[in-house]
Amino acid sequence: MPSIRLPRIPRPGRRKPDSALAAASADTRHLADVLVNTLTGNLDHRDINQVLAAIDFGISAHQGQTRVSGEPYIHHPIQVAQILAEMRMDKPTIIAALLHDVIEDTGFSKDQLARQFGKDVAHLVDGVSKLTQINFRNRAEAQAASLRKMILAMVDDLRVVLIKLADRLHNMRTIDALRRDKQIRIGRETLDIYAPIANRLGMHQFRHELEDLSFRAIYPIRYRVIAEHIKRSAGQRKDLIRKIGKGIRKRLKQEGIKARVIGREKHVYGVYRKMKQKDLPAEEIMDIFGFRIIVKQLGQCYCTLGVMHNLYKPIPGKFKDYIAIPKANGYQSLHTILKTPYGAPVEIQIRTEDMQQVAESGIAAHALYKARGKRNAAEQSRIQEWTQRLLEMQQSAGDSMEFIDHVKNDLFPDEVYVFTPRGEIMTLPRGSTVVDFAYAVHTDIGGSCIEARVDNKKVPLNTVLHNGQTVHIITDPNAHPAPNWLNFVVTSKARAHIRHFLKALDYSNAVKIGHQMLELALENAGLYMADVSGQKISELLTELGIESLDDLLAEIGTGQQIAPLIVNQLAGDQIKPEGHHKTRPLLIKGTEGTVVKLANCCKPVPGDSIVGSVTPGQGLVIHQAACANISSPSRHGDKWVEVEWQQQPEGHFSADIKVQVANQRGALARIAAEIAAAGSNIENVSIHDHDGTTSSLDFTIQVESKSHIQNVLTRIGRIKHVMSASRV
Ligand code: MN
Repeated sequence: MPSIRLPRIPRPGRRKPDSALAAASADTRHLADVLVNTLTGNLDHRDINQVLAAIDFGISAHQGQTRVSGEPYIHHPIQVAQILAEMRMDKPTIIAALLHDVIEDTGFSKDQLARQFGKDVAHLVDGVSKLTQINFRNRAEAQAASLRKMILAMVDDLRVVLIKLADRLHNMRTIDALRRDKQIRIGRETLDIYAPIANRLGMHQFRHELEDLSFRAIYPIRYRVIAEHIKRSAGQRKDLIRKIGKGIRKRLKQEGIKARVIGREKHVYGVYRKMKQKDLPAEEIMDIFGFRIIVKQLGQCYCTLGVMHNLYKPIPGKFKDYIAIPKANGYQSLHTILKTPYGAPVEIQIRTEDMQQVAESGIAAHALYKARGKRNAAEQSRIQEWTQRLLEMQQSAGDSMEFIDHVKNDLFPDEVYVFTPRGEIMTLPRGSTVVDFAYAVHTDIGGSCIEARVDNKKVPLNTVLHNGQTVHIITDPNAHPAPNWLNFVVTSKARAHIRHFLKALDYSNAVKIGHQMLELALENAGLYMADVSGQKISELLTELGIESLDDLLAEIGTGQQIAPLIVNQLAGDQIKPEGHHKTRPLLIKGTEGTVVKLANCCKPVPGDSIVGSVTPGQGLVIHQAACANISSPSRHGDKWVEVEWQQQPEGHFSADIKVQVANQRGALARIAAEIAAAGSNIENVSIHDHDGTTSSLDFTIQVESKSHIQNVLTRIGRIKHVMSASRV
């Protein structure tokens, strides 16, 4: 009889027959089944369907990709999700774990994941991808501490770290498939970076497994020797351990304390570390073995301690109360070491179930409470208990809050971590800009930076930096700090240096101008510098209470002292009245900084005829000779200085122009284009609409000279809809 093949009927609510999972290999389906079984009871039916949809998505996305071992790639994310499922993490974490390599390794975007699996999941996957993108390979080992901090700083959601740790754990579990050199490198990285993060978050189970796997990857022989030693010594003392365990359980029962008593396993790397730290052979470290007693309530911890101290004699000085004073990472427990009649001492740890959970899963235990928080009132009260405990820790003295503070600082830091092109990490205050970075690298680099690239993109110098960026500064030995940098730098180093530079620049400019002004005043009196004796100068300095000639010149330059009066004091008796005819103007460069100001009322530019006015404290202010703000009677008093532009003035000057234009689309754009074509920049523009048909546009533009303005105006005047264009 021919056999009839019946189609498989899918269980309701389970995978659809046409799913990628149904078509996958038996191995893949088995892994998915194990995951679903683990999740059942923690997640409901609908949630599990979404998990299955994520597996389907992952299978399709990673289609054709294999791991080094030859397995289909999807086995990796499923097993990462399995690790997190065993920790009873929430649904978004599980789904994100299943998709954690999708952005990095396949063509899908964050948005696509958000549409299919929600924003929460997409955000987590994106966070994991960003951590993956940090290239650890070139980073010096010495910076492991900064990298750990940086990883914690880069995530705004702890679940991202948990997924990353689970990812690393699974990679370490399967590291045998890789080449030796890769095993060593990844093992080192895990030991330097990921195991300490697990420790910091109080996730001891994770930490121990990561450490042992890394240790085995780096030193396979040392690992085997110590592991065998642990096994042997446990075997030798099996009877002893059983006897003591039995004694403990029996006594607890007599006292009516319900407790779990667990024999403790040593972890290989822990033994190795102690051997190295204390320089002891493995035998002596193995000498102490231990039990963990887990009770229901806090009060029973101390009660149990009393019972144990009564059962065997405690070794003085070895008792530690981490319940009253928790460790920095939140760990709570009582520790004591007892002397047994069998010769070997035994270490006892006593704690509640909650403390046990925190001890093993750390911060994850917190996440776990949070994830299950919605379920029922009992869970709710556990969250409150947790919060309560945090509060108690806060109130109890000393460093008990250190852990919480650290985690908080790590997650919401006031710092950003960025890289130099060589891969060194720079720590800067949040809000720091490219210029702050340049100064942090070296004051010379800060002082001469002209351009910056962030992640290979050219950016303005005021760009605010973010975690993980690589910053490249381009310098020019002739460049100087600009006054406007003070508007955006945040580090005190940059601020102090820029201020210092500007002050020094002002001073040297003031000395130069003052020198010129004094020379001119002398010439007007028919004298030269050489006519003034050094004796006279030092007498005058003493009289005025000024320290040096430069200081005096600077004071003249900034208008604190009036040059002709100084000439009178220096050489009053030598003045030749006939010398008065000879006048020579002061030459203005235009880049004297704050010492020589160009008046805002008339905005003089090279080519304009100009006049200077000296105001104490303000220095020299240059006006157009025709400026309406100048009243002629006082024009030749002490206040006024004859000035002229230097042959080759430097820098950029501002000028105001007014353009009347018929309201036409694109008129402004045309004008702007002509201004640019004339080699000028627009600093500011304002538009006034007149009657709906014409507008007047007021521009402030940057020019080099009067003829440059003329050039700009001519170009604008040629535009069709422009009715007039003139300098204001
Ligand atoms: Mn992965």
